[in-house]
Amino acid sequence: MPLLIDAAGILGEVRDVLITWLPILLIVALLYFMWRAVSMMPRTKPREVKPDSASLVSWDEIAGLDEAKDELREVVDFLREPERFAKLGARVPKGILLYGPPGTGKTLLAKAVAHESGAAFFSQSASSFVEMFAGVGAGRIRKLFETARKHAPAIVFIDELDAVGAARSVNSLNREQDQTLNQLLVELDGFVADPRVVVLAASNRLDALDPALLRPGRFDRQVLVSTPDLAGRSAILKVHTRAKPIGPDVDLEIVARRTAGLGGADLENICNEAAIRAGRTGRQVIEAEDFDWALERIMAGLQTSRILTEKEKRVVAYHEAGHALVGHLLGDTTALQKVTIVPRGHALGYVLNLPDEDRYIRTREELVDEITMLLAGRAAEVVTFGRISTSAASDLERVTAIARAMVFEYGMGETVSARTMRADNYALSEATKRLRDAEQARIADEAYADALALCEEHRAALERLAVALLDRETLDRADVKRLLADVPQRASSGSAVGVARAQPYDS
Ligand code: ATP
Repeated sequence: MPLLIDAAGILGEVRDVLITWLPILLIVALLYFMWRAVSMMPRTKPREVKPDSASLVSWDEIAGLDEAKDELREVVDFLREPERFAKLGARVPKGILLYGPPGTGKTLLAKAVAHESGAAFFSQSASSFVEMFAGVGAGRIRKLFETARKHAPAIVFIDELDAVGAARSVNSLNREQDQTLNQLLVELDGFVADPRVVVLAASNRLDALDPALLRPGRFDRQVLVSTPDLAGRSAILKVHTRAKPIGPDVDLEIVARRTAGLGGADLENICNEAAIRAGRTGRQVIEAEDFDWALERIMAGLQTSRILTEKEKRVVAYHEAGHALVGHLLGDTTALQKVTIVPRGHALGYVLNLPDEDRYIRTREELVDEITMLLAGRAAEVVTFGRISTSAASDLERVTAIARAMVFEYGMGETVSARTMRADNYALSEATKRLRDAEQARIADEAYADALALCEEHRAALERLAVALLDRETLDRADVKRLLADVPQRASSGSAVGVARAQPYDS
């Protein structure tokens, strides 16, 4: 009996202990698991912010990119002699955005600006600001700028700006991203800014950025860093073979010709691979065979879409030559800046026209001329190869937009009901809509017939332009004028000469 009483007592004691300690144990276990979970969450370690002086480069280590360098020289001058500009009341560009495809030298340019101006260089990738917890990214940006101001004059370089600067959607719920972007905007805006801190940023996609970043006083200067053309590739290859022993059989011009579409990073890689291969085969100098090997190796590893075949290049060259030729014939050479078959973005080649002046009013004839020029790319392909390709897709999109606006918005149709005043779509009868659609199609068809006739009539000139493009990849305004010197412009159809257009004709 006493034994039974004892067992019950022990059980009771155990129960008392459990009641007292179990909740405490559970709380401790819970805290432990929470701590483990938080420490395992993905996050980048906060980095110590310090200037980078080891990897800076000088202007002459950057080949090509002359336009971008010219833009940036101004910043260098300002950082070197701020008083000179302050006396004149000049405001320095505070934020400059370098945009273009990967590996084309954006980081390199930022480093050169720091080196040439003697400014401290702070570089950080925007992806290191992206954090899970609200406020952490913003804090890092604040710290980066605080440190840069202490070291002024300084360059703050933010790579991959899209990581924080992607356009916010209207009902964005990402508070952390918003706070980070807002902090960056605050640093760029007046209150805390030191004029001797210049912010450079790099992005592959200008169109994906939040418009707030591109407003005046922020990244209001945008510098295109484009894929190099033939001359650019040759120069880059020279830079990267400067310190390498090259055999007499190596012709860098030929290597440049074979690497259309590649950027500086790829070309550097080719030079390096060729040197490694020469080393492995026990040679004293790098030979043409090593370059061939490196080329094959690098090109095979790249996405094929970045490299055009010879056949594709010919199609693009005739297509762009068509745009340039018809632009000239219709009196548009004043606006042509360059025509190129170096790919940019989705475009395999393009004609860049800049308007001579801002235009608000355009005549019917000018709009028709523009449509004719847009369709001249396809017309040139038909005249030369007897078939059409997919390369005119974006041209056709714009032709449709212009022709539609002419009929539906500006009342430029030829029949009366197509000419009567603009009406919103729902207010139109089916018959009027059909009529206007037919008018729209007629405008495009007539312009296309005209483009075809012009390309046919001036076939020799078309050929000249295309051959020059295939040879040199990029032709500027003076080149085109020279090549078409004996081709008279067509008598004006009553339109003012020159069509205001800032967007390139893609193919
Ligand atoms: P990403 O958009 O991927 O950051 P990026 O445009 O910043 O690329 P960089 O980092 O500047 O490209 O270039 C990578 C490497 O490519 C450089 O270190 C350099 O060796 C080479 N390179 C690129 N462009 C040039 C150029 N114009 N002249 C000489 N070398 C170049």
